[in-house]
Amino acid sequence: MDRPQCQTVAFSKKARNVFLHILTGCNLRCRHCYINPEQHGSGMAPLAQIEAWLTALADPQTPTNVVFLGGEPTLHPDLPAAIRAARRLGYASVTVDTNGYLFHDFLDKISPGEVDFLSFSLDGPDPATNDAIRGAGCFAACTQGIRRAVEKGFAVSVIYTVSSENARELPRMPVLLKDLGVSRFFIQVIGLRGKAAQGEGGFQLYADAWLDLVAPVAGESARLGIPTAWPKVFLAPGEIFECAGLVADNYFVFPNGRVYRCPLCEDFPIHALEFSEGVLQHRPGLTEDRFFSLTIPEGCVMNRLIQPDNIEYDATGRPVHAIACCLLKEEFRHE
Ligand code: SF4
Ligand code: SF4
Repeated sequence: MDRPQCQTVAFSKKARNVFLHILTGCNLRCRHCYINPEQHGSGMAPLAQIEAWLTALADPQTPTNVVFLGGEPTLHPDLPAAIRAARRLGYASVTVDTNGYLFHDFLDKISPGEVDFLSFSLDGPDPATNDAIRGAGCFAACTQGIRRAVEKGFAVSVIYTVSSENARELPRMPVLLKDLGVSRFFIQVIGLRGKAAQGEGGFQLYADAWLDLVAPVAGESARLGIPTAWPKVFLAPGEIFECAGLVADNYFVFPNGRVYRCPLCEDFPIHALEFSEGVLQHRPGLTEDRFFSLTIPEGCVMNRLIQPDNIEYDATGRPVHAIACCLLKEEFRHE
């Protein structure tokens, strides 16, 4: 059998990505939830506002991908209409991230041809692991949602957020994903934002644990026919650091109109852009984009400022690994 091929997925300067949080409300209370109501409110963007924002962020010259997120986006009764608006506006791909509960009979109101991927969050290969993080009954609901979506012909991906709480169980995921009929796997690393930053759980993962764990699991799921991507996180000596804030085009939009260029900044009111009366505007003052061009041996400046515990230094005071941009991915796929 052919071997899976590993490659770094370089930042694309030819594509734009819009991560549209259409509400912050959610039926779950995950212990590592990154949503921060103090910063992003508890509102739900009305359909007219979503359409106006999609229109403002579409670019006829550059393929633009949109990911609908929450909170739980299927709690928004107008999600199917928002997906159709994105299609009408020519978005290159449409993805919905969901916790799997699929409210408002979502699967009956949209067809597989209208979304490129339904992306389900699952943080363990069994109820004991997953539900300890995401809440009682969540594993059953999510896997049932995945099976229903696959049966209806939707392309389904799964996101597993690795932390010290569930790293050991990650190797059991590929077999489960194969059984569920999942077509792509995204291994994410815990980011210390929202609740995870407030000390609820001690989720931090360190270089040795991450580097030993992730590539073998990704290789195994690719061998089973499931392309698998994960953030690079720790750069090897000599590898080039690049900040997506400078070399890529990403927009993280929240229902209160804040638009960030870097997801690590979302706990702070330093967003570079905001929607004001439907118009996307640059904000003055000390905003996130002022940090992107700072060059430090630790790599990502925001990681150094916000979650420096993952940086290890050698006896001379140099970082053992520079921290890669959290948006830079590696990928295993079966050639
Ligand atoms: S992590 Fe996602 S599914 Fe969990 S509580 Fe937060 S928004 Fe809801
Ligand atoms: S995570 Fe770091 S490197 Fe990536 S966009 Fe943000 S500041 Fe730049």
